[in-house]
Amino acid sequence: MDFSNLNKQSSQSFHKQKNLLKKLMKGQLVKCPNCQQAIKIYLPEDKVKPGARCAKGCTDISLEFV
Ligand SMILES: [Zn+2]
Repeated sequence: MDFSNLNKQSSQSFHKQKNLLKKLMKGQLVKCPNCQQAIKIYLPEDKVKPGARCAKGCTDISLEFV
């Protein structure tokens, strides 16, 4: 089994998610690549599960706040 490609892919998507979150944190509009709806960022003070989600839920990035 060769997992090196898998690791590369997941790290790429990790960086994509990080960049997406950075944009959202700056207040920039980011659209879901799937449904083209704006992705909203939810913070712990919003009293919902923190993360970045589009209206349809096809983009759902969980955030861990420590
Ligand atoms: Zn979507």
